[in-house]
Amino acid sequence: MRETRTSALAVSIVFMASISLEAQTTGQPDWARSEGETLEHFQALLRLDTSNPPGNERRATDYLQQALEKEGIPTRIFALEAARPNLVARLKGSGMKRPLLIMGHTDVVTVDPAKWTFPPFAATRDGGYIYGRGSLDDRPRLVAGLMTMLMLKRLDVPLDRDVIFLAESGEEGTTRVGIDFMTKEHFDAIDAEYCLAEGGGVRRERGQVKFASIGVLEKIPRTVELVARGPSGHGSVPLAGNAVGRLAAAVAAISAWPAPIRLNETTREFFKRLAEISTGAEAEQFRALLSADPTAHAAAVRYLGEHSPSHAAMVRTTISPTIMKAGSRYNVIPSEATATLDVRLLPDEDPARVLELIRGVIKDPAVEVRWAQRDGATRPAGGSGLDTEAFRMIEASVTRHYATMTLPTMGAGASDKAQMRAKGVQCYGIGPATDEEDGPKGFGAHSDQERILESELHRFMRFTWDVVIDLARAKGDKP
Ligand SMILES: [Zn+2]
Repeated sequence: MRETRTSALAVSIVFMASISLEAQTTGQPDWARSEGETLEHFQALLRLDTSNPPGNERRATDYLQQALEKEGIPTRIFALEAARPNLVARLKGSGMKRPLLIMGHTDVVTVDPAKWTFPPFAATRDGGYIYGRGSLDDRPRLVAGLMTMLMLKRLDVPLDRDVIFLAESGEEGTTRVGIDFMTKEHFDAIDAEYCLAEGGGVRRERGQVKFASIGVLEKIPRTVELVARGPSGHGSVPLAGNAVGRLAAAVAAISAWPAPIRLNETTREFFKRLAEISTGAEAEQFRALLSADPTAHAAAVRYLGEHSPSHAAMVRTTISPTIMKAGSRYNVIPSEATATLDVRLLPDEDPARVLELIRGVIKDPAVEVRWAQRDGATRPAGGSGLDTEAFRMIEASVTRHYATMTLPTMGAGASDKAQMRAKGVQCYGIGPATDEEDGPKGFGAHSDQERILESELHRFMRFTWDVVIDLARAKGDKP
C-alpha cells in the first residue's frame, strides 16, 4: 500500500491509521513506507567506518542503541574493550517458547580506497545498487534485525517467545571481543532456542533466482605451520638440505595432494537438491558425486575441482598454503623457513589424523608440522537440524519470497554461529540475494569493492520479517 505524500501530517495520519488497522488484521508492516526507513538506516550504517582492524564498532552500536531506545526498546551494552562493544536488545514474549535471536556483526573488513569506484564509506546509490564496505557483509542482517525490532514494537505484535537482537563486534578475525566474550561471559543475555545469522543467501544467475542456501553447518578453521630446518651458510656455497628448498618441496607436495572425500548428511542433501534444480552435465556430475560407483564418483570430484572450487571445498577437509617466510639476505642461506597452511576441517574430522596425513604427504622429517595459534580456533563442531520448526519456517519463507528451492548448506568458511551451536542454539545462516556474476567482477563480500541490489535488500527485509513472525508471533488467538 502506497500513500500519496501530500503533507507530512497527512502521511503520519495515514501511517498511524495503517499501523493500528494492520496490527489488528494482518500484523504486516506498511512495506512501501518502511523501505525508506530501511534504506536510511542501511546507508547510515554503511557510512560508519568500522574496518577491523581496529574495529571501532562502537560507532555502529551507538547508532543502533539510539535508534532502538528512541522507540522505547531497552538495550544493554557488553564490552570487553570500550571501543568494541556488543549490543543486545530484547522484546519480551509470553515465555511459552524459548527465545529467537537475530544476530549481525558490526565490524567490516578493511578497504583499499584506491580500488573503489565510489568511496567505500559513502553508501552511494547507483544503477539499482548501494555501494559500500559491509553492504553484503554484514550490514543487511544488522538493518534487518534493527527494523524487525522496531516494527515488532510499533505494531505491538504479541509474541510467544522473546525476540533478541545482538549486534556483535569482532567477527572478522577477533572473536575474543565479540562472540567468544558473549558466549563465555554473558550467554544468559543471548541464550535462545534458534538464531538467525550470516552464512546463507539466495543465488541469482543472469538475473534469475537459482536457489537459496541456508547455513546449517560449517567447517572448522585451523592453522598449520610448516617449519623447515637446514644448515645455514654463505649463498656462494650450496648446502644439501637447504631449508628454503625443503619448504618449497613440502608446500608443493601439499598443494598437489588430493585430500580424501567425505560427504555428510548436510552435503548429501545439498547435492541431491542441487542436482534436482540443475541441468545437463552439471546435474549429472552432482548425481555422480552421490553415486556408489567409485569411477563415476571420482570423475565428479575432478569435475567439481575444475569447474566449481566452492563445491569441491564442501566434500573434503581442505588445505591452502597462504604465507611463506624464508631468508633475509640474498647471500645468506637461512637455517629456518616457515609456511602457513589455512586448513578447513570437515566438522567430524579428527584433527590429529589430519596432522598425520600432512606429515605423510610431505615425507620429510626435517620439516616440522604443527598447529599454530588462530583467533577463533576454539570454534567447535556441531550443526543445526533440518527437522526443526525454524528450518521449516525459513524454507516456507524462501518459497514465499523467492519461489525457489532451499538448499541446506555447509559453509566452507567459519562464522559466529559455531560458538552459538556449541551452546546448544540451533543457528541458521540467511542472507539477501546476490548475482553469481557479481563476485568474479570484484563486488562480493571481502572483495575489492562491495555492493548490494537495493531491491534485494528490501526483499531480504520482508523475508526476515516473515521468518521472525512465523517463529515468534503468539498463535494463541489465531485459528
Ligand atoms: Zn560476515
